[in-house]
Amino acid sequence: MNTKNELAMVGFIGLGRMGLPMVENLLKSGFSVQGFDQSEAARAEVAAAGATACSSAKEAARGADVVITMLPNGSIVREVLLGEAGIADALSPGAIIIDMSSSAPTDTTYLSEQLLPRGFRVVDAPVSGGRKRAVDGTLTIMAGGEPTVIDAILPVLEAMSAKIFRTGKIGSGHAMKAINNYVSGAGMVAAMEGVILGETFGLEPEVIVDVLNVSTGRNNTTEVKMKQFVLNRDFGSGFALGLMAKDIGIANDLAEALNLQMGSLAETSVRWKAAQDRLGPDADHTEIYRFLADS
Ligand code: NAD
Repeated sequence: MNTKNELAMVGFIGLGRMGLPMVENLLKSGFSVQGFDQSEAARAEVAAAGATACSSAKEAARGADVVITMLPNGSIVREVLLGEAGIADALSPGAIIIDMSSSAPTDTTYLSEQLLPRGFRVVDAPVSGGRKRAVDGTLTIMAGGEPTVIDAILPVLEAMSAKIFRTGKIGSGHAMKAINNYVSGAGMVAAMEGVILGETFGLEPEVIVDVLNVSTGRNNTTEVKMKQFVLNRDFGSGFALGLMAKDIGIANDLAEALNLQMGSLAETSVRWKAAQDRLGPDADHTEIYRFLADS
């Protein structure tokens, strides 16, 4: 099962900010897609894009060689797969499940342990890059699982990006994703505190960002978020604050499970959760600036 033709049918569950453009790229590469989302608007959008809109997750899974989940978190993925209305009973023999959501590594190993004895293989392949890169097909994909299973789904992943990293055993993609978002989220807090500190002192925020961007303090936030979404108060990056808080919490849980004392990670996790409590999970993640400025 390693050519496009052999992997003709993809079931896709979770058609939100990321899922929908990922489906569009699968369609562009010639895959047939049957998609499901609990939101009626999302189902209408996927149908308009040229996929089959299904009325349940089971319907999207039926007859699919590969089922991709792009859902808010691992508990929802587990419910969609193994819950009362779960798709496990509807999967075709030998189907491969790819969880591209940012889930916890422990959720993924549990899923694999439950599904492998039933003949279904699981790969975790979360992404980094946000909606724009989902649209452009330039996401970073971190794939964890058996090498032969990843080989089999490579054409599907390649339809969504050429930047595919094999991270190792099942769950390792999700561990890598949580680590990335910890580093990104901590860098964001540092960049924003730098701007707030400088502005309070009397520096111009634009000047601070310009200097950081050609100095050793530059990072992803200073380069592609601060002017684009924060200083202009646009706050429309398309990545929810609650999702970032969840990802950093996953990294913190992982450190605790491995008996690692990581002060900065623990502190960063607490601050993102506090920002989520104040601003709500649906606020854009760049809005943490408002929380930091008011703290
Ligand atoms: P989103 O909230 O826009 O989309 C999630 C979709 O899942 C929604 O359309 C929702 O209706 C649907 N959904 C929720 N529960 C469901 C269920 N039980 N059955 C069917 N559909 C259900 O979120 P998103 O930004 O697309 O993120 C999806 C995943 O990708 C998350 O795990 C997130 O952490 C990760 N991620 C997001 C970004 C980003 O920039 N937005 C970047 C990288 C990774």
